[in-house]
Amino acid sequence: MRKYDVLIIGAGAAGLMCAIEAGQRGRSVLIIDQANRPGKKILMSGGGRCNFTNYHVKPDCYISHNPHFCKSALSRYTPQDFIQKVKKHGIPYHEKTLGQLFCDDQSSDIVDMLLAECEAAGVEIKLQTEVKKISKEFNKALKNNFVCVLGKKEEKEVKEVKEVKEVYEISVESVVIATGGLSIPTMGSSPFGYQVAEQFGLKIWPTRAGLVPLTLHPEDKILLAPLSGVSADAKVSVDGLNPMDFTESLLITHRGISGPVILQISSYWSAGENLKINLFPEISNLNLEKLNLSFDDFWEETRKEHPKKIIRNIFSEKIPQRLLEILLPKELADLPMNTLVPRQINLIKQALTEWELKPGGSEGYRTAEVTLGGVDCDELSSKTLEAKKMPGLYFIGEVLDVTGWLGGYNFQWAWASGWAAGQVV
Ligand SMILES: Cc1cc2nc3c(=O)[nH]c(=O)nc-3n(C[C@H](O)[C@H](O)[C@H](O)COP(=O)(O)OP(=O)(O)OC[C@H]3O[C@@H](n4cnc5c(N)ncnc54)[C@H](O)[C@@H]3O)c2cc1C
Repeated sequence: MRKYDVLIIGAGAAGLMCAIEAGQRGRSVLIIDQANRPGKKILMSGGGRCNFTNYHVKPDCYISHNPHFCKSALSRYTPQDFIQKVKKHGIPYHEKTLGQLFCDDQSSDIVDMLLAECEAAGVEIKLQTEVKKISKEFNKALKNNFVCVLGKKEEKEVKEVKEVKEVYEISVESVVIATGGLSIPTMGSSPFGYQVAEQFGLKIWPTRAGLVPLTLHPEDKILLAPLSGVSADAKVSVDGLNPMDFTESLLITHRGISGPVILQISSYWSAGENLKINLFPEISNLNLEKLNLSFDDFWEETRKEHPKKIIRNIFSEKIPQRLLEILLPKELADLPMNTLVPRQINLIKQALTEWELKPGGSEGYRTAEVTLGGVDCDELSSKTLEAKKMPGLYFIGEVLDVTGWLGGYNFQWAWASGWAAGQVV
């Protein structure tokens, strides 16, 4: 039986980082992936340019039932640490907006960098390979000993006989689960990590799609679908179970609502809750510079300069005309502004700053960037990511109940948690 010090399951962002660190410490590392190439999500990330970290990473930007858990790894492996690696490999990058760092050229620069470091650290990578079985064996000589049965990923066309031939056992001291979340099933995602957690008696929080476009109930869909492609800056908030607000761009699509602000708020939104949308956002929690005039200031300025201007025309430089047509009270839209009484001004203010929309649901894992929930952080050491009740078993990256905001936060968690486990496996 072949022996390795470490088996890492999942050659994505977290798994590759962990492999590099463990390999550099002189550990013999095998990393396997069921996909036909490593780092597939890195390749498709950031619109092909991988938003690999964010200058403003802080624990508050992560959602977890244990909000303190991510602090240790994030403070020991920071965005600057990853930037140093990127610089060392001469990869050109830039800050796009809100501290988000992207490759100038392509995401494959990041995958190539990680693979080059894996090779230099002597890491062995096997693709289209999965674990058929994991068991922990008693072994006096070793601290921990896991026996894992590996095999070719079952393809429908692979015959039973061939399948059996390609199955083999390995023995390892540490098993690291880095199988990610459930989003984009066509990219090789699987529930395997949760199944291993269950097998060893670890608690799992229910999972759901995060950073995902939201869908609308039929009546709102009929109203908004003709506006498909219209976008506007907006502050969108939820004040239900997980109160939060974000200010970024909102996009209306033929299926519902999307754009960065909706992806962000989707991770905090619970079914049945209303979104409150303010089309006069002043200050964002992502960007502390003043973005805009408040409704009251804008009204006052316009009234002084153009008191006779017709209501539907005064907002059109700020809010797309077609959206205004839907939101403005019809009976007020054609009046000159100096004819309005305070009650009417208030109605307009409410329509544009407190637009309430109740999403019907989300587009689900098919288009989600991340998975909320997952392996309960309380089951692990926040320093080493090792399971408290199963020494030698580690969980890193998105499979855990740690989910970042949009903008490079999720990769930073993958790098940091992979790095932390890589110091000890
Ligand atoms: C379209 C899209 C764009 C994104 N863009 C960004 C971005 O720009 N910035 C950002 O910070 N985050 C982004 N994300 C999120 C980010 O990709 C993930 O949070 C991150 O990849 C998680 O890293 P991970 O290593 O935990 O999991 P992954 O990177 O998903 O890696 C898991 C690996 O495990 C393998 N695997 C799964 N099951 C098995 C199994 N049973 N056996 C063997 N192997 C298995 C998978 O094939 C995969 O290679 C994006 C996500 C998507 C879907």
